[in-house]
This record gives sequence, C-alpha cells and structure tokens, in this order.
Amino acid sequence: MSEQKVKSGQVVSIEYTLRVDGKVIDSSVGGEPLEYLHGASNIIPGLEREIEGMAVGESKNVVVSPEDGYGEVNEEAFIEAPRSVFPPDIPLRPGVELQLTGSDGSPLYARIEGVEEDVVVLNLNHPLAGKELHFDITVVGLRDATAEELKHGHTHGGHAHH
Ligand code: ZN
Repeated sequence: MSEQKVKSGQVVSIEYTLRVDGKVIDSSVGGEPLEYLHGASNIIPGLEREIEGMAVGESKNVVVSPEDGYGEVNEEAFIEAPRSVFPPDIPLRPGVELQLTGSDGSPLYARIEGVEEDVVVLNLNHPLAGKELHFDITVVGLRDATAEELKHGHTHGGHAHH
C-alpha cells in the first residue's frame, strides 16, 4: 500500500482548530471534518501551502500571517454613514455586526466601529483581517477528486450540488 501525500487535484479532509489571540474561534473537532479540493484556492493560501505533501494521520501546527490569511486591515474599509440610514431596531453601539447590501446587490459584512453624534463608523474589513491565525490540523482523509469536481473547482462530498 503506497502512502498518498496531499497534492493538487485531491480531495482532502482535515480536522482543524483555529486560534486567534490565544482564543479558539473555530474548530471541526467533535463535528464533521472540513473537506476541500486541494490546489483550487478553496481555503486560505497560507494553510493550503502548508498542507501540501502531508499524509493521512499527520498533524501540524500552522501559523498563517495576515497576508496569507484574510489580509491586512484596510484603512479605506472604514466608512461613515449618517445615523438616519439605520432602521430604529438596530442598536447603534460599537461591536454590533450588520449585514448590508453592496452596490452590486451582494451581501456585505460590517461591524460598527464607533458611534458619533451624527454618523456611525462602519468597519468593512473581514473580522479576521490583520490577525495571525494559529491552526492545529490533522489530515484525516485523502482521495482523488472526480472529473466533475476538478471541472467545478470544488468538492461535492455527498452534499447537495450547488
Ligand atoms: Zn459543483
């Protein structure tokens, strides 16, 4: 039996725990492993690069810098909006998370950064922008992708097709 190593065109299952600033913020442990198509940019680049060449059963601690993760904090992603545009049922205080609609109709994620007399300052950065990501990962499964998965650039993994 030859030992397979993770490379492009394979469907990889991993167990992972993600810590940021020493706090666990996401984990697959105790649930379904994360399954993704390797080499198709389904996961952040810094993690994909480190998983390359791993074998099933192998574990690794991976530290991903912001530039290989969710990017640096973009100062231009802070915008001011007049208080009057917010419906009255939205609590206007720092830390409140909002889902807005972008000019192209796509959902846009924002957090209230600060509230001033007339304006609300919104932070449109990804919540993990500027953060160093600490992953504990274990490869728990590996198989060749199907022709259809390769064509679509993602795994079908038994879930409903989208
Ligand atoms: Zn598909």
